[in-house]
Amino acid sequence: MSSYVDLTMVAFDQIRGQSKAKRLLGRALAGSRLSHAYLFSGPTGVGKATMAAAVADILLCESQQGDQPCGVCPGCAKMLSGNHPDYIRITPQGAAIKIDQIRALKEALVFSPFENGYRVIVLEDVHTMRREAGNSLLKLLEEPPPNNIFILIGSSAEALLSTIVSRCQVVPFFSLPLADAAKVITSQCPELEAENALMLAALADGCPGQALSLETEGLFEIYTRFVDRLRQPYPNEAVRVENALAFAGEISVLKEALPVLLRLFRLFFKEVMMVRVGGKNEQSCSPEVAAVRELWNLNQLSAKITAVDLAEKALTRNCNRGLVCEVLMLDLL
Ligand SMILES: [Zn+2]
Repeated sequence: MSSYVDLTMVAFDQIRGQSKAKRLLGRALAGSRLSHAYLFSGPTGVGKATMAAAVADILLCESQQGDQPCGVCPGCAKMLSGNHPDYIRITPQGAAIKIDQIRALKEALVFSPFENGYRVIVLEDVHTMRREAGNSLLKLLEEPPPNNIFILIGSSAEALLSTIVSRCQVVPFFSLPLADAAKVITSQCPELEAENALMLAALADGCPGQALSLETEGLFEIYTRFVDRLRQPYPNEAVRVENALAFAGEISVLKEALPVLLRLFRLFFKEVMMVRVGGKNEQSCSPEVAAVRELWNLNQLSAKITAVDLAEKALTRNCNRGLVCEVLMLDLL
């Protein structure tokens, strides 16, 4: 999962939504009553990593005003260059945060922070840690070296050792209202039409970070080509099969976008079905649906929706993705 953190400073109050997290952290920062460890917990892609970076910016600024980093002091300059010696960010190596990463962290924490203030340690996707790494981190949290602030980021507190959770102040994060999520998406992808940003926000359940991953994977572009292809007649069966298999190859390598693409396929064929049975008139349906409404009868449409259902089930059972996509595309195209 790519987060939308970059090397620009995001002020605390620029983060959309998450009023509870802002209130909790804002109070702690303003009163300098910081916990030594926080757990930012909530769905992927709603701003946890951005918030962690904002907190680090404030703590490592040498002349911060309340909850704003100044942006110009040596501390801010080092953060902006992505190179502050008292800022450590740990992300999973491969699928998980490994015990070796925690051991290396322990060694780094033997020394006091280089500058005179805090050291901030951000651990992303802590729910990926196995027990061994988790226990090693637990020891650090039980006897934290002074002036170190840990920010753990995870999708849910349940996936963590309860002993780790009990050592942290839990800061909950939530999905955003769709309009807010769409605004975050357009701020990152200004070329995206408002309507598509809103649709992406809905497909990603109000988690803009997830929506941006879908966009990066080319979700809309692939979906549009799929719908275009439905309209093209094939000269013969061999060309049809060749096309379907090529398309299957393309979508089988998608990661987060694949299940969402299947949802879009289902919605599409359902809409065509609604038009066919007269539940929706042609004027109110999308032009793509109107263009293909005569191509299939109800049995064929129902078979296509079933094919999507079967593919979804097979993917959740970890069947061979390539094969699942081939069978699906031969059914759909
Ligand atoms: Zn500063």
